[in-house]
Amino acid sequence: MRIVLMGPPGAGKGTQAKRMVDKFAMVHLSSGDIFRAEKASGSDLGAKLAGYMDSGQLVPDDVVVEMMAKAITRSDGPAGLLLDGFPRTVAQAEALDVQLAGADSPLDAVVVILVDSDAIVERITGRRSCGQCGESYHVKFLAPKAEGICDACGAELTQRTDDTESVVRERLDAYNKQTDPVIGYYKSRDGVDVIEINGNQTPDDVTGDVVSALESLKAGA
Ligand code: AMP
Repeated sequence: MRIVLMGPPGAGKGTQAKRMVDKFAMVHLSSGDIFRAEKASGSDLGAKLAGYMDSGQLVPDDVVVEMMAKAITRSDGPAGLLLDGFPRTVAQAEALDVQLAGADSPLDAVVVILVDSDAIVERITGRRSCGQCGESYHVKFLAPKAEGICDACGAELTQRTDDTESVVRERLDAYNKQTDPVIGYYKSRDGVDVIEINGNQTPDDVTGDVVSALESLKAGA
């Protein structure tokens, strides 16, 4: 299966993506993770990305499309593909369609996790993740057993630099203006199922809904 995972910042995409790739054996490509790795490498490109990311703005389409096209080509194999955080504009979605059509591997579905905008700031400012194994937590909704310590590997948990309230508001604004229209783009396309999931539930309940929707899709229902 080739799936795009969408949703506003704080919808829980990272948590759900990890569970989906375990369950359905897909390669997980997160544009945010790829950009953070480039930023951490200290390259000129990383410094350019940081300017946009740290202020909550979208990275320009030409840069995103080039980086993600390379990542998709590299990941090409028998397994499925889960794109997380990409595409985020209609221009990116169009470029992705061209690339996948050229490889004769079109998308099967777009999973959208919908969350009330009031809940988003609390969700994001409470997020923590493990710098070592990448496991995600939330201080209130998905707390680790010991505060600040990863249950999975025992390393210290960290907070993303763009998870502050003012940057979150910018990111939400970018989502509403630039990314929300991508859902309409996919709804008007033939051959792609748009699956909308209620994200205002526990992470386990969201996973349950996503898994049953994808199992129905696989079974051709
Ligand atoms: P994320 O981890 O998905 O929340 O992404 C973190 C930041 O990376 C975003 O706030 C953007 O600045 C940038 N970014 C990630 N994916 C994209 C994309 N598809 N288009 C533009 N910017 C992106």
